Amino acid sequence: MIQSKQIRKSQLVLVVDDMEINRDVLGIILEDQYEVIFAADGEEALQKIYQYQHCLSVVLLDLIMPKMNGFEVLEHIRNDDSLQYLPVIVLTAEKSAELRALQMGAADFITKPFDVHEVILARVARIIELSEGRQLISAAEHDKLTMLYTRNFFFEYANRIQHFQQARMDAVVLNIEQFHSVNALNGYEFGDEVLRTLGDEIRAFLQETDGIASRFEADRFDIYCAHQGDYQAMLNRFQNALNKLSHKSSIRLRMGVCLWAEGVDPVLMFDQANAACSKVRGDYMRHLMVYDEQLREHELLDQRLLNDLQRAVDERQLQVYYQPKYDVTGERPRLSSAEALIRWNHPELGMIPPGTFIPLFESNGQIGVIDKFVWNEAARQLSEWHARYDIDLSVSVNLSRVDLFDPVLESTLSSLVESNGLEHMNLKLEVTESAYTENSDYVIETVNRLRDMGFEIEMDDFGSGYSSLNMLSAMPIDVLKMDMKFIRNIEHSEKDLRLAELVLDIARYLKVPVVAEGVETEGQLQLLRDAGCDIIQGYFFSPPLPADKFEELIKRELNRA
Ligand code: C2E
Ligand code: MG
Ligand code: MG
Repeated sequence: MIQSKQIRKSQLVLVVDDMEINRDVLGIILEDQYEVIFAADGEEALQKIYQYQHCLSVVLLDLIMPKMNGFEVLEHIRNDDSLQYLPVIVLTAEKSAELRALQMGAADFITKPFDVHEVILARVARIIELSEGRQLISAAEHDKLTMLYTRNFFFEYANRIQHFQQARMDAVVLNIEQFHSVNALNGYEFGDEVLRTLGDEIRAFLQETDGIASRFEADRFDIYCAHQGDYQAMLNRFQNALNKLSHKSSIRLRMGVCLWAEGVDPVLMFDQANAACSKVRGDYMRHLMVYDEQLREHELLDQRLLNDLQRAVDERQLQVYYQPKYDVTGERPRLSSAEALIRWNHPELGMIPPGTFIPLFESNGQIGVIDKFVWNEAARQLSEWHARYDIDLSVSVNLSRVDLFDPVLESTLSSLVESNGLEHMNLKLEVTESAYTENSDYVIETVNRLRDMGFEIEMDDFGSGYSSLNMLSAMPIDVLKMDMKFIRNIEHSEKDLRLAELVLDIARYLKVPVVAEGVETEGQLQLLRDAGCDIIQGYFFSPPLPADKFEELIKRELNRA
């Protein structure tokens, strides 16, 4: 009994009435069970409400008062979001006022002259209980930062909408590009402001359109809304809201949409919208994608390839092709090296190019399986060619960014070289430029250790990333591989030729040779050679070849010597 009284006493009631006698009566009725405070008019009421905002359980509010009446107080409470959970019981003698008060958000009413005490106590207790229950639910229901639904409630409501509503509802997923960088560059407070701004704009949008929204996690927002004719316009609207927020950093949104289809449940729709959204991650040109049949097929194919990988290794469906690199510094081109490139000869799908599966295995972390296979095979093959032909030939293999974080990378590579009787310098390592950009200190350290061991490092796809000259001179590299896009048009565009020459200048500044890849014509070869390019790789000399075909190139080379 005592215990329950103590608990009750922790609840605070504000009694607002201009008549002292009414305040006294209510005070006496309530004081046994509640902490009670008083106000004599509307203004004082508001002042107390704000003063005790965080511990006030209920307000008993007289309607007719001097200065500011009860209706004005109600109006004020209704317009202030921070007071949305504060229940108000109005005190009134007029039947007509009851309805108006209820319409303005009052939770209940107590009639004057005052009823039996127990009735008043019971009403107050019930309203407090109801409102505390509502607040508890609301805390779990809404994300604190954006006031959008939390994930579980969102899907609960989305399911209900799907069952009961006739309208076509689409699923939209919004995500912020590189949100971790936004945080890292501008601080978490700014990051929170970005999320809040987006939340506000989404809520404003949903006042115009049927629907609900949730902050699914960190920077992913899910919106279940009535079908929109123009999703680009919807994305622009949210993007503009963020543009206004900051001039110092540009924040990019990407959006995936899954259109309504009969009987598809919201969870699956949002999975698909999210898959669409992921497809445009990091894309500088495209920020919106609608999930469609083609994407569905892509997903199915991805799933299939993921499942089939181990079998592919076991059954030797993976093959290593070799593309020659020719040294063009001398009088005639000399076969100096080869790049090992993976091919997947799938029993049902045929030959699959690496562009289809490398990014997939990179993103799920299994790329190591493929890369190790290629390194092993390339080292074994090279050592066989050395033994058979006594030729000065090296092979480059590709390293994924993921490989650089493998704690046993160095020992794996060096035991590979030793067990095949090769020198470290026979196995060159191609690391793509973009691998250096994130977490670059760690990557640079790793690459430096590999170099110290005697491996040569080729920076692949140079010019596709965003390294500054400053960064470049800190990067451990022995060779630059110029990205193909520089070469494609050099015969027809003066500007492209000058860009290629610029890359060659950078390489001279760094004192490293340049490999030009993707050289397809004699014209390109000439221009590059004249500009001082050392090594050429591309269809002009040869496409990537299976080992036995490449071996013929070796023999031809030896015959010519
Ligand atoms: P990359 O390392 O830049 O390889 C060069 C790509 O250019 C190869 O594509 C090659 O076939 C292609 N190529 C060569 N000469 C020409 C030409 O004259 N014209 C055109 N249009 N293309 C040419 P491929 O074999 O499809 O490989 C694509 C990418 O996949 C590679 O780009 C590399 O990033 C990745 N890759 C290939 N094999 C492996 C591997 O074993 N491990 C890893 N991690 N990535 C690999
Ligand atoms: Mg490469
Ligand atoms: Mg390349």
